[in-house]
Amino acid sequence: AIHVAGLHKSFGALEVLKGIDLTVRRGEVVCVIGPSGSGKSTLLRCVNLLEEPTSGSVTVAGTEVTDPDVDIDRVRRRIGMVFQAFNLFPHLTALENLTIAQRRVLRRGKAEAVRIGRDTLRRVGLSDKESAYPAQLSGGQQQRVAIARALSMDPELMLFDEPTSALDPELVGDVLAVMRALADEGMTMLVVTHEMSFAREVADRVVFMDDGVIVEEGGPEQVVSDPVHPRTRAFLTRVL
Ligand code: ATP
Ligand code: MG
Repeated sequence: AIHVAGLHKSFGALEVLKGIDLTVRRGEVVCVIGPSGSGKSTLLRCVNLLEEPTSGSVTVAGTEVTDPDVDIDRVRRRIGMVFQAFNLFPHLTALENLTIAQRRVLRRGKAEAVRIGRDTLRRVGLSDKESAYPAQLSGGQQQRVAIARALSMDPELMLFDEPTSALDPELVGDVLAVMRALADEGMTMLVVTHEMSFAREVADRVVFMDDGVIVEEGGPEQVVSDPVHPRTRAFLTRVL
């Protein structure tokens, strides 16, 4: 689970997060929507301390990551993160991209890392691509390798930051299908997305952020289909 309480983040004089309270329970899928610059990525990056919060607390799987004494590498190991850009190692094959972190970070032996790597590639539908280099894969396939790489580390939860927004439209569906399967398996997921149909169909809750605050939060039927707040309505009119 993720608990965010009173989270503020400033970059110099620019206050980007202005007091965020958010809980993602175990097994829950929460989608974050909102306009560009509203602070969605910064929120995600504060959850795994890629950014240091200015104030407030973030607890992940029972560990307060904002506690100065915390071993952040240990916490990060339990969090899978998938970004808009795929961030694969270009000189490694798909399978090698999956085994390197398992071996270096989790200290798994080669045979075990390869077995888990192959299992995970199968889960994302890429068994036949294990020897391909990233440049030989489509954007959607690269993103599925990136998801598989995160999954091969046995994360307790997954953070997704617009994982499909860099993809050609015809490639989006395969990636969303993998994410949907993950949600069905009970993975705890915090997903920043512009895919409103994904939010509507997969999210347990949808959070609308604007200008560093959560403006509206609720079930997808409410937030996406029947929003209360005028700012949510205005945003949805623009994106739907
Ligand atoms: P988008 O939908 O375009 O991805 P977002 O909601 O993810 O937008 P953020 O990336 O969180 O928005 O950025 C929120 C604000 O914080 C923006 O004004 C951005 O310029 C600013 N910002 C983000 N990171 C930094 C940084 N490292 N230094 C300074 N300003 C930053
Ligand atoms: Mg962003």
